Amino acid sequence: MIIRLNHLSGEHKLGKISRREMLEASSILAASIVAPSPLRAAEISRKLNIVVVGAHPDDPESGCGGAIALYSEQGHNVTIFYLTRGEAGIAGKSAREAAAVRTAESEKACAILRAKPIFAGQIDGDSEVDNTRYADFKKLLAAQNPDIVFTHWPIDTHRDHRAASLLAYDAWLDSGRKFDLYYFEVDLGEQTQNFHPTEYVDISSVESIKKSACFAHVSQQPATTFWPLHERMMRFRGMECGVENAEAFVRESQNRQTGVPAKE
Ligand SMILES: [Zn+2]
Repeated sequence: MIIRLNHLSGEHKLGKISRREMLEASSILAASIVAPSPLRAAEISRKLNIVVVGAHPDDPESGCGGAIALYSEQGHNVTIFYLTRGEAGIAGKSAREAAAVRTAESEKACAILRAKPIFAGQIDGDSEVDNTRYADFKKLLAAQNPDIVFTHWPIDTHRDHRAASLLAYDAWLDSGRKFDLYYFEVDLGEQTQNFHPTEYVDISSVESIKKSACFAHVSQQPATTFWPLHERMMRFRGMECGVENAEAFVRESQNRQTGVPAKE
């Protein structure tokens, strides 16, 4: 389901309004976010190709695992791109050992979310953004013929997250803005910075699926690391849009107005 803040503010130009009118307006807002689908995908009869681009194993799951679960429930194809295999993410293990563990965890998470994993061949902590990487990434993404792409918000304390975002953004530009682009948040305040959502997805019905996918990343000890923060983020985003648990996104303002592009 979707809420377009810009549309709502346009519809509710009430000027000076009473408290009662304000409450009525609030109930209209509440009603409008009980729409059935994430980002209108349920209103589309054909199968959509959704691609989620994350820098490390566990980023796509924590940033938009709920939206992924909803897309899968609706029968759409979801592919998760992991830019790296999390080579630097397990203390005491070599890059090769960590990559093997985290690849297996990613595959398990994808099975839970009914998504297809693709590993984009970069190295954790050492991701590169240059002309060759742009070209390679563009090719990899184009092969999925995406309708909608989700990626990291580019203002982020982690270099790999910024790299993933730039690669996806460049591929979007280069495609002629052919697919819709949305940005997700991870570890808000610690990693994602300056994030002001334009869209909210009610993930209350699939929160347990998201949690299972996040907890597939056993090596990251989610119960004491990223999960408690993401739990608070889901509640907070839920409070902002009037549901129990939500994920929040920033919509690329040059996306097509339909929510998903019409493919010729
Ligand atoms: Zn990450």
